[in-house]
Amino acid sequence: MSSDLNALPQEIFLKLVVLGDLGVGKTSLIRSYTEAAEEEGQGQYRVSVESGFSTKRLVVGDNKTVHVQLWDVPGHERFGGMTRVYYKYAHGAVIVFDLARPETFESALGWLSDVAEKLFDEQKQTRDANTAMPVILLANKCDLPDLKVPRQKYSSYVSENGLLTWFETSSRDRSNVSLAIKRLVEYILETDPQVKVAQANAKLWKDNDDGRF
Ligand code: GDP
Ligand code: MG
Repeated sequence: MSSDLNALPQEIFLKLVVLGDLGVGKTSLIRSYTEAAEEEGQGQYRVSVESGFSTKRLVVGDNKTVHVQLWDVPGHERFGGMTRVYYKYAHGAVIVFDLARPETFESALGWLSDVAEKLFDEQKQTRDANTAMPVILLANKCDLPDLKVPRQKYSSYVSENGLLTWFETSSRDRSNVSLAIKRLVEYILETDPQVKVAQANAKLWKDNDDGRF
Protein backbone atom coordinates (compact mmCIF):
# COMPACT_ATOMS: atom_id res chain seq x y z
CA MET A 1 0.00 0.00 0.00
CA SER A 2 1.33 3.44 -0.84
CA SER A 3 2.67 5.82 1.79
CA ASP A 4 0.01 8.36 0.72
CA LEU A 5 -2.22 6.45 3.06
CA ASN A 6 -0.73 8.42 5.93
CA ALA A 7 -2.36 11.55 4.53
CA LEU A 8 -5.82 10.03 4.82
CA PRO A 9 -8.08 10.67 7.79
CA GLN A 10 -7.88 8.31 10.76
CA GLU A 11 -11.32 6.95 10.02
CA ILE A 12 -12.41 6.26 6.47
CA PHE A 13 -15.82 5.16 5.26
CA LEU A 14 -16.18 3.38 1.96
CA LYS A 15 -19.33 2.30 0.22
CA LEU A 16 -19.14 -0.65 -2.14
CA VAL A 17 -22.15 -1.80 -4.13
CA VAL A 18 -22.52 -5.50 -4.86
CA LEU A 19 -24.29 -6.22 -8.16
CA GLY A 20 -25.32 -9.22 -10.19
CA ASP A 21 -28.29 -11.37 -11.09
CA LEU A 22 -30.54 -13.13 -8.61
CA GLY A 23 -28.95 -16.23 -7.11
CA VAL A 24 -25.32 -15.55 -8.08
CA GLY A 25 -24.39 -15.43 -4.39
CA LYS A 26 -24.23 -11.73 -3.49
CA THR A 27 -25.87 -12.06 -0.09
CA SER A 28 -23.78 -15.15 0.70
CA LEU A 29 -20.57 -13.37 -0.28
CA ILE A 30 -21.35 -10.37 1.90
CA ARG A 31 -22.18 -12.66 4.80
CA SER A 32 -19.07 -14.72 4.25
CA TYR A 33 -16.94 -11.59 4.16
CA THR A 34 -18.36 -9.91 7.22
CA GLU A 35 -18.52 -13.10 9.27
CA ALA A 36 -14.86 -13.79 8.53
CA ALA A 37 -14.08 -10.70 10.58
CA GLU A 38 -13.76 -12.47 13.89
CA GLU A 39 -11.37 -15.05 12.55
CA GLU A 40 -9.18 -12.30 11.21
CA GLY A 41 -9.39 -10.51 14.54
CA GLN A 42 -9.90 -7.10 13.08
CA GLY A 43 -13.50 -6.62 12.18
CA GLN A 44 -16.97 -5.96 13.31
CA TYR A 45 -20.08 -7.57 11.98
CA ARG A 46 -23.07 -5.42 11.57
CA VAL A 47 -26.08 -6.06 9.43
CA SER A 48 -28.76 -3.59 8.67
CA VAL A 49 -31.49 -5.57 7.00
CA GLU A 50 -33.73 -2.62 6.25
CA SER A 51 -31.17 -0.60 4.40
CA GLY A 52 -29.43 -3.63 2.98
CA PHE A 53 -25.82 -3.03 3.87
CA SER A 54 -23.28 -4.71 6.12
CA THR A 55 -20.20 -3.07 7.54
CA LYS A 56 -16.81 -4.55 8.18
CA ARG A 57 -14.04 -2.65 9.88
CA LEU A 58 -10.53 -3.03 8.57
CA VAL A 59 -7.37 -1.65 10.05
CA VAL A 60 -4.89 -0.52 7.42
CA GLY A 61 -1.54 1.24 7.29
CA ASP A 62 -0.69 3.38 10.30
CA ASN A 63 -3.66 2.16 12.35
CA LYS A 64 -6.29 3.75 10.12
CA THR A 65 -9.77 2.38 10.42
CA VAL A 66 -11.67 1.69 7.23
CA HIS A 67 -15.37 1.04 7.59
CA VAL A 68 -16.28 -0.96 4.50
CA GLN A 69 -19.97 -0.85 3.74
CA LEU A 70 -21.15 -3.57 1.40
CA TRP A 71 -24.51 -2.75 -0.11
CA ASP A 72 -26.62 -5.73 -1.05
CA VAL A 73 -29.25 -5.54 -3.78
CA PRO A 74 -32.59 -5.28 -2.01
CA GLY A 75 -34.17 -8.25 -3.72
CA HIS A 76 -35.09 -6.92 -7.15
CA GLU A 77 -32.06 -7.89 -9.15
CA ARG A 78 -32.59 -6.42 -12.56
CA PHE A 79 -30.11 -4.09 -14.07
CA GLY A 80 -31.89 -0.93 -14.93
CA GLY A 81 -34.03 -1.44 -11.87
CA MET A 82 -31.65 -0.09 -9.27
CA THR A 83 -32.31 3.34 -7.84
CA ARG A 84 -29.80 6.15 -7.88
CA VAL A 85 -29.82 6.14 -4.08
CA TYR A 86 -28.31 2.67 -4.18
CA TYR A 87 -25.32 3.96 -6.12
CA LYS A 88 -25.09 7.34 -4.41
CA TYR A 89 -21.67 8.06 -2.91
CA ALA A 90 -20.43 4.58 -3.84
CA HIS A 91 -16.65 4.30 -4.15
CA GLY A 92 -16.50 0.97 -5.90
CA ALA A 93 -18.59 -1.81 -7.38
CA VAL A 94 -18.39 -5.57 -7.17
CA ILE A 95 -20.10 -7.38 -10.04
CA VAL A 96 -20.82 -11.03 -9.31
CA PHE A 97 -21.75 -13.87 -11.64
CA ASP A 98 -22.31 -17.59 -11.14
CA LEU A 99 -19.72 -19.86 -12.78
CA ALA A 100 -22.37 -22.53 -13.22
CA ARG A 101 -24.82 -20.22 -15.06
CA PRO A 102 -23.38 -18.60 -18.21
CA GLU A 103 -26.38 -16.26 -18.57
CA THR A 104 -25.36 -14.53 -15.33
CA PHE A 105 -21.97 -13.79 -16.91
CA GLU A 106 -23.73 -12.30 -19.93
CA SER A 107 -25.62 -10.03 -17.51
CA ALA A 108 -22.39 -8.64 -16.09
CA LEU A 109 -22.14 -6.23 -19.00
CA GLY A 110 -25.65 -5.01 -18.29
CA TRP A 111 -24.74 -4.36 -14.67
CA LEU A 112 -21.68 -2.43 -15.78
CA SER A 113 -23.79 -0.19 -18.03
CA ASP A 114 -26.22 0.30 -15.17
CA VAL A 115 -23.42 1.66 -13.01
CA ALA A 116 -22.42 4.06 -15.78
CA GLU A 117 -26.01 5.07 -16.48
CA LYS A 118 -26.97 5.73 -12.88
CA LEU A 119 -23.83 7.70 -12.14
CA PHE A 120 -24.27 9.87 -15.20
CA ASP A 121 -25.15 13.45 -14.25
CA GLU A 122 -24.75 12.47 -10.63
CA GLN A 123 -21.04 12.52 -10.06
CA LYS A 124 -18.45 12.74 -12.75
CA GLN A 125 -20.43 13.34 -15.93
CA THR A 126 -19.27 10.18 -17.61
CA ARG A 127 -20.83 7.11 -19.11
CA ASP A 128 -17.76 5.04 -18.48
CA ALA A 129 -18.39 3.01 -15.34
CA ASN A 130 -14.70 2.54 -14.68
CA THR A 131 -14.05 6.27 -14.69
CA ALA A 132 -16.93 6.72 -12.30
CA MET A 133 -15.55 4.14 -9.88
CA PRO A 134 -13.40 1.02 -9.87
CA VAL A 135 -15.21 -2.23 -10.61
CA ILE A 136 -14.11 -5.79 -9.87
CA LEU A 137 -15.66 -8.95 -11.27
CA LEU A 138 -16.23 -12.02 -9.09
CA ALA A 139 -16.60 -15.41 -10.76
CA ASN A 140 -18.46 -16.97 -7.86
CA LYS A 141 -19.20 -20.57 -6.83
CA CYS A 142 -15.76 -21.77 -7.92
CA ASP A 143 -16.20 -24.63 -5.45
CA LEU A 144 -18.74 -26.28 -7.79
CA PRO A 145 -17.55 -29.26 -9.85
CA ASP A 146 -19.11 -28.20 -13.13
CA LEU A 147 -17.91 -24.71 -14.11
CA LYS A 148 -19.56 -23.55 -17.30
CA VAL A 149 -17.84 -20.25 -18.00
CA PRO A 150 -14.25 -20.58 -19.22
CA ARG A 151 -11.67 -18.41 -17.46
CA GLN A 152 -10.49 -16.96 -20.75
CA LYS A 153 -13.96 -15.43 -21.24
CA TYR A 154 -14.07 -13.42 -18.06
CA SER A 155 -10.41 -12.53 -17.99
CA SER A 156 -10.67 -10.96 -21.44
CA TYR A 157 -13.97 -9.36 -20.48
CA VAL A 158 -12.19 -7.62 -17.61
CA SER A 159 -9.39 -6.27 -19.75
CA GLU A 160 -11.64 -5.33 -22.67
CA ASN A 161 -14.02 -3.38 -20.44
CA GLY A 162 -11.39 -1.78 -18.26
CA LEU A 163 -12.40 -3.37 -14.97
CA LEU A 164 -9.85 -3.36 -12.17
CA THR A 165 -9.48 -7.13 -11.91
CA TRP A 166 -11.32 -10.43 -11.44
CA PHE A 167 -11.27 -13.17 -8.80
CA GLU A 168 -12.67 -16.66 -8.67
CA THR A 169 -14.53 -16.78 -5.38
CA SER A 170 -16.61 -19.08 -3.27
CA SER A 171 -18.78 -17.82 -0.47
CA ARG A 172 -19.14 -21.44 0.54
CA ASP A 173 -15.46 -22.08 1.31
CA ARG A 174 -14.62 -18.34 1.49
CA SER A 175 -11.87 -18.57 -1.06
CA ASN A 176 -10.65 -15.21 -2.33
CA VAL A 177 -13.54 -13.26 -0.82
CA SER A 178 -11.51 -11.16 1.63
CA LEU A 179 -8.68 -10.87 -0.85
CA ALA A 180 -10.97 -9.46 -3.54
CA ILE A 181 -12.51 -6.83 -1.28
CA LYS A 182 -9.09 -5.91 0.09
CA ARG A 183 -7.80 -5.37 -3.43
CA LEU A 184 -10.69 -3.04 -4.23
CA VAL A 185 -10.41 -1.15 -0.94
CA GLU A 186 -6.66 -0.65 -1.33
CA TYR A 187 -7.13 0.56 -4.88
CA ILE A 188 -9.73 3.09 -3.76
CA LEU A 189 -7.54 4.33 -0.92
CA GLU A 190 -4.60 4.73 -3.24
CA THR A 191 -6.48 6.49 -5.99
CA ASP A 192 -9.70 8.11 -4.83
CA PRO A 193 -9.30 11.77 -3.93
CA GLN A 194 -12.90 11.73 -2.73
CA VAL A 195 -12.22 9.62 0.33
CA LYS A 196 -12.37 12.67 2.57
CA VAL A 197 -15.78 13.45 1.17
CA ALA A 198 -16.73 9.91 1.99
CA GLN A 199 -15.87 10.52 5.58
CA ALA A 200 -18.43 13.32 5.72
CA ASN A 201 -21.01 11.24 3.90
CA ALA A 202 -20.52 8.38 6.26
CA LYS A 203 -21.23 10.60 9.23
CA LEU A 204 -24.65 11.07 7.68
CA TRP A 205 -25.09 7.35 7.43
CA LYS A 206 -24.01 6.90 11.01
CA ASP A 207 -26.36 9.58 12.25
CA ASN A 208 -29.22 8.04 10.35
CA ASP A 209 -28.77 4.65 11.84
CA ASP A 210 -31.33 3.05 9.59
CA GLY A 211 -29.03 3.84 6.69
CA ARG A 212 -31.51 5.89 4.70
CA PHE A 213 -30.62 9.25 3.27
P1 GDP B 1 -28.09 -13.61 -4.31
O1 GDP B 1 -29.47 -13.74 -4.86
O2 GDP B 1 -27.14 -13.12 -5.36
O3 GDP B 1 -28.01 -12.81 -3.06
O4 GDP B 1 -27.59 -15.09 -3.98
P2 GDP B 1 -27.57 -15.85 -2.58
O5 GDP B 1 -26.45 -15.39 -1.74
O6 GDP B 1 -28.93 -15.80 -1.99
O7 GDP B 1 -27.22 -17.33 -3.05
C1 GDP B 1 -28.06 -18.04 -3.94
C2 GDP B 1 -27.80 -19.53 -3.78
O8 GDP B 1 -26.48 -19.85 -4.18
C3 GDP B 1 -27.94 -20.00 -2.33
O9 GDP B 1 -28.54 -21.27 -2.35
C4 GDP B 1 -26.50 -20.09 -1.86
O10 GDP B 1 -26.33 -21.06 -0.85
C5 GDP B 1 -25.79 -20.49 -3.12
N1 GDP B 1 -24.39 -20.01 -3.14
C6 GDP B 1 -23.97 -18.75 -2.92
N2 GDP B 1 -22.65 -18.66 -3.03
C7 GDP B 1 -22.20 -19.90 -3.32
C8 GDP B 1 -20.91 -20.47 -3.57
O11 GDP B 1 -19.86 -19.81 -3.52
N3 GDP B 1 -20.86 -21.79 -3.87
C9 GDP B 1 -21.97 -22.56 -3.94
N4 GDP B 1 -21.81 -23.87 -4.23
N5 GDP B 1 -23.19 -22.07 -3.71
C10 GDP B 1 -23.32 -20.77 -3.41
MG1 MG C 1 -29.54 -11.68 -2.13
